[in-house]
Amino acid sequence: MNASKWIKDTPKTSYPKIEQDVYIDTLIIGAGLTGLTTGYYLSQAMKQFIIVEADCIGYGASGRNTCKLTAQHGLIYKSLIQKYGYTLAKQYYDAHMEAIESIEEIVHKHQIDCDFKRCNSVLFTQESEKVPNLQDEYQACIDLNIPCSFIDTVQYPLTIQAGIMFPEQAKFHPLKYMIALADILTKKEIAIYEHSPVTNIIEENGTYIALCNHRKIYARNIVQATQFPFYDQHQFLFAKTYPMSSSILCTPTTANYGDDMLINTESPSISLHAFSIQGQTCLMVGGNSHKTGQFAKEDPDYVQRAKKMFGIEHFEDMWSTQDYMTFDHLPYIGKLQKNNDQLYIATGYCKWGNTTSNIAGKLLCAYLLKQPSPYRKLFDPHRLSSLFSLTFLKENMNVAYEFVKGKLQPCDKEYPQKGQARVIEIQNHLYGVYRDEQDELYIVDITCPHLGCICIFNQQDKTWDCPCHGSRYSYTGEVIKGPSTNRLHSYREGRNQIDPHLF
Ligand SMILES: Cc1cc2nc3c(=O)[nH]c(=O)nc-3n(C[C@H](O)[C@H](O)[C@H](O)COP(=O)(O)OP(=O)(O)OC[C@H]3O[C@@H](n4cnc5c(N)ncnc54)[C@H](O)[C@@H]3O)c2cc1C
Repeated sequence: MNASKWIKDTPKTSYPKIEQDVYIDTLIIGAGLTGLTTGYYLSQAMKQFIIVEADCIGYGASGRNTCKLTAQHGLIYKSLIQKYGYTLAKQYYDAHMEAIESIEEIVHKHQIDCDFKRCNSVLFTQESEKVPNLQDEYQACIDLNIPCSFIDTVQYPLTIQAGIMFPEQAKFHPLKYMIALADILTKKEIAIYEHSPVTNIIEENGTYIALCNHRKIYARNIVQATQFPFYDQHQFLFAKTYPMSSSILCTPTTANYGDDMLINTESPSISLHAFSIQGQTCLMVGGNSHKTGQFAKEDPDYVQRAKKMFGIEHFEDMWSTQDYMTFDHLPYIGKLQKNNDQLYIATGYCKWGNTTSNIAGKLLCAYLLKQPSPYRKLFDPHRLSSLFSLTFLKENMNVAYEFVKGKLQPCDKEYPQKGQARVIEIQNHLYGVYRDEQDELYIVDITCPHLGCICIFNQQDKTWDCPCHGSRYSYTGEVIKGPSTNRLHSYREGRNQIDPHLF
């Protein structure tokens, strides 16, 4: 998988691995923005917790995103008012604006060098027939007393039909911020472990045991800050969310596009942003939004369009990442099981996790410390209202379709060329074959161990991606991204077993 600009330019952290059994009050799994922010707030009240990370700090979605900090999340306020009323819709805006303030406060308090900068955010359309949607959204914002203005030009080289501008939003370097949070925790003697994937969780007499690097972590409470919870306990979160991937192009520029961060309302989606890192301005263009593993619906002209729009020959960096969407646009933050005070989750950030993770950090901390929070109801993972939508039916039917389509797909008779992959059948079972540039063949069982869908090869990242629930694997079969915690078996090693915890 290509590294992001943030990951490429920032020295790697080196925290130890879990190498012995640990007994602790609270285990936070995942050191992305959610895990580290939860740790940051928790450390103000208690120290009996650890954070374990499968990879390096910030190497998940948090270290691969477009670094916007905003309460402007597409056309959402009108629909939030319609679904949840004015009070909760305003609460959503307030929660995100408070999150920006909290991040700014942390940055100033600890003098974190993470290029934090206040700026405007703009939601725009280039299609005249979409202008009424923007007008309705603008009216919803006005009704909610959200400071904003209606505009018709932007500083980037594109003609817009209309836009809504939110002032006082911000941007930052997410990886530098996360590394600083980890550093603050380390100075408080909170242990952080890298290269320590949790592969299973078992309950024994009210204590949870997380299995990690062949060791056991005994904990009273567990927070799955893993972007998507792999330990589901019959909550069917995979049916309440769906994974969406996008690509990001980035290149240094001498042009002056100003500080505004832009995103459009229509399809194909485009997200624009000029960001200064160590005195150099980089142009970032996000797009190519598609359901993870479903490349047929990809936006094939995305790179060409971006090049043409900005008169750029070549983008220095290109990477992709994914996030989980919910059906009512609100994340799920809180208890995994309604009547269990020990297991917590935060997921479904709908590609707006830079601020949502701050909300989650504070909210999860309130749950763990048995303190009140005004946001419990709004983000409650057990709200049924999130499921009453056509998208819920559409996405779950899509999962069923992909499941069947994968099983029935025609297989190739021949092995692939260098740098390519093919699906072949061996003893009535589907395998994926990838031939690397050194002519080495890698044959893996592409039945996803999570819930049994057939993975699809992602040519850009050279990964096998599950089109149903978004697990991703390297061509050698290692897990890159959950919810799966089990690797793809190599041919002759055996066949993948479906995760027994989900049934
Ligand atoms: C293309 C794109 C652009 C985006 N741009 C923005 C933006 O501009 N602004 C914004 O607000 N949001 C943006 N987002 C969304 C944002 O990146 C995510 O919502 C956010 O980073 C999620 O944070 P997290 O900490 O929950 O997950 P992650 O950052 O993915 O962290 C989870 C961590 O858990 C670890 N982990 C997983 N499983 C295990 C396990 N079993 N054991 C141990 N560790 C484990 C992972 O390795 C990972 O490090 C964007 C998303 C996409 C897809």
